[in-house]
Amino acid sequence: MASRSGRHFLQIPGPTNVPDRVLRAMDMPTMDHRGPEFGVLGREILANLKPVFATSGPVIVYPGSGTGAWEAAIVNTLSPGDKVLMVETGHFATLWHKMALRFGLKPEFVPGDWRHGVDPDVIETKLAEDKAHEIKAVMVVHNETSTGVTSRIPLVRKAIDNANHPALLLVDTISSLASIRYEHEAWGVDVTVSGSQKGLMLPPGLGFNAISEKAIAASKTNKMPRSYWDWEEILAANKTGYWPYTPATNLLYGLNEALKMLLEEGMDNVFARHDRHAEATRRAVRAWGLDILCQNPAEYSSSLTAILMPQGHDADALRRIILDAFDMSLGAGLGKVAGKVFRIGHLGDFNDLTLMGTLSGVEMGLSMAGVPHQTGGTTAAMAYLAEQKTAAKTAAAA
Ligand code: PLP
Repeated sequence: MASRSGRHFLQIPGPTNVPDRVLRAMDMPTMDHRGPEFGVLGREILANLKPVFATSGPVIVYPGSGTGAWEAAIVNTLSPGDKVLMVETGHFATLWHKMALRFGLKPEFVPGDWRHGVDPDVIETKLAEDKAHEIKAVMVVHNETSTGVTSRIPLVRKAIDNANHPALLLVDTISSLASIRYEHEAWGVDVTVSGSQKGLMLPPGLGFNAISEKAIAASKTNKMPRSYWDWEEILAANKTGYWPYTPATNLLYGLNEALKMLLEEGMDNVFARHDRHAEATRRAVRAWGLDILCQNPAEYSSSLTAILMPQGHDADALRRIILDAFDMSLGAGLGKVAGKVFRIGHLGDFNDLTLMGTLSGVEMGLSMAGVPHQTGGTTAAMAYLAEQKTAAKTAAAA
């Protein structure tokens, strides 16, 4: 590998770039996880997680990846043989469905075209038909990282309520938490599943479950065997800021710093920043004359954009050229859309010039790879970003 100068551009939709403040916070001696200082750190983290998940209830932190947090949500609330309702929004919904099957659940997997999010009407119809209330949970992915489609969770909640159905609502926010507006409590979610390596700007290695009273009640009677993932012992130890096993101490130092950064910026500003970068990206894509995979503008993702390649052109070849020439990693197409799409991650520790560097790399790569497109994508994005900054300045001065 040729030597490189400057930083690698990690523009996949997670893991994301880890800010220097977080790297420095983790570069510390590991402390005694049963000592007095640790309890102070633990309590601070558990308190600061609440505004990020928008909940007044507990948030469980596991050493583990997002997949582990999926498993935790299942084993703490459901029993083998339970019917659950899931929707094929993309690759990650498909993987969660596979996991549900492995645990002996009986998922109904509503088919999807990987270009739309969850249809709330389908949820309402299926639940209204389930007069015996055999469906125990609705399990959906908020932001499909494989497609760049964000499902409208408040409408899913409304669909469940309209059907007057008691099913739990389990939501994967692995690529939306701390980048796309999300409100665990106000949206009536029972288990919110997340991970550290995307909007939280940390390395991979932590998984999360934000849990409702109803989810905790379900965990008292459900029949799934579990040990490591069991909420009960963790909740008990968390009361004083500790965990029942060795936590990922240095990742927790990083989490503490990342939460401070998010709360200093303010969650509304974090979401607005992501919305703006996503819109600038879509303007670039349209100016290039390429297609965005997501077909419903109300479901555009603010953390990533998946772009369809013109017929006969390979997305992985384009990504390889961009990596070799500009030291930038873009997201691959996953599952059904492998080779057909590439994904630009615009989430986490990200600013206007990071986005412009990213889009410039893509535009140069499209030319180098001989992909038919129009120039001017980066110009369209710059114009939008500058216009927005000017409008914000004018509004602040008024
Ligand atoms: N769900 C979504 C939406 C994801 O984006 C990912 C990973 O990218 C996962 C689940 C799996 O998480 P992990 O790879 O951390 O196990």
